[in-house]
Amino acid sequence: MAVPNLRSILEENDDDSYIEGVHNYCNRWCERCPFTERCLNFAISSEIFPDAESQDIQSRAFWDGLYRVFAQTLELVREMAVEQGVDLEALDSPQERAAYDRHKALLDAAVEESPLHQAAQAYTALAAGWLDSSQELFQAKGEELTRLALAGLDEERLEAKAISLTDAVEVIRWYQLFIGVKLIRAITGAIDEAEDDPEMLAEFGRDSDGSAKIALIAIDHSIGAWGVLLAGFPERETETLTILAHLDRLRRAAEREFPNARAFVRAGWDTGEVTVQPPHPTPPHSDSLSE
Ligand code: SF4
Repeated sequence: MAVPNLRSILEENDDDSYIEGVHNYCNRWCERCPFTERCLNFAISSEIFPDAESQDIQSRAFWDGLYRVFAQTLELVREMAVEQGVDLEALDSPQERAAYDRHKALLDAAVEESPLHQAAQAYTALAAGWLDSSQELFQAKGEELTRLALAGLDEERLEAKAISLTDAVEVIRWYQLFIGVKLIRAITGAIDEAEDDPEMLAEFGRDSDGSAKIALIAIDHSIGAWGVLLAGFPERETETLTILAHLDRLRRAAEREFPNARAFVRAGWDTGEVTVQPPHPTPPHSDSLSE
């Protein structure tokens, strides 16, 4: 597969029709995103992976394309380093590598010890357990809705119910790992920011808050989706309520640890570029989940 030149893509797309940084704190769900026309990240991905085959992670075309992008990215980084007078060799000295390893070990330890990270991991396992053990339930529900439709019940309402349940499962699956990944970025970002210029942080915002914000949004959407499953599968009420309570505790813990996250302004999403209707189920009132 011929992969377009990365630098020429960046130069061709260097115009105001793109919202700078819109992809920085998004949920990466491009299929459901209102900003595909204004996202440079999406434009680049679409040019590099234009068809179903090149987007299929199982295909040779995908991995060939990714490898070529990797090689081009390295080349681009080297060119930019030369342009800006940065000595990449110096950054790869034994001292720099040792310093990097020490810093990484510090970040890894902080993540491992973080109750927030532990709670996010526990959620991932809880969600996986629920979904994996519900395959027969999903099949039975599908058959039940089909039976009711054949029996002449309101077909439109039944279809809406099926879509809502499918949608809820998709939302949960999408965010199942995403929440933990974004919280790791928030935790490690907060440590790195301790060395950053406070004025710069005040002007541009903290990456840790942006990461925590998208994690919180993912939690909100997931709570809404679990609410839909709670109503749709009353036979699993106890396990679903346990997960909902766990997610709500995670939400409150993240808000405590990152008190400014909700107020973080994300380019495009929080700057009135478009009025975005949430494509996800509405969360139930959080008070009802509190202990
Ligand atoms: S902003 Fe939208 S289109 Fe761009 S990467 Fe994020 S989800 Fe995809």
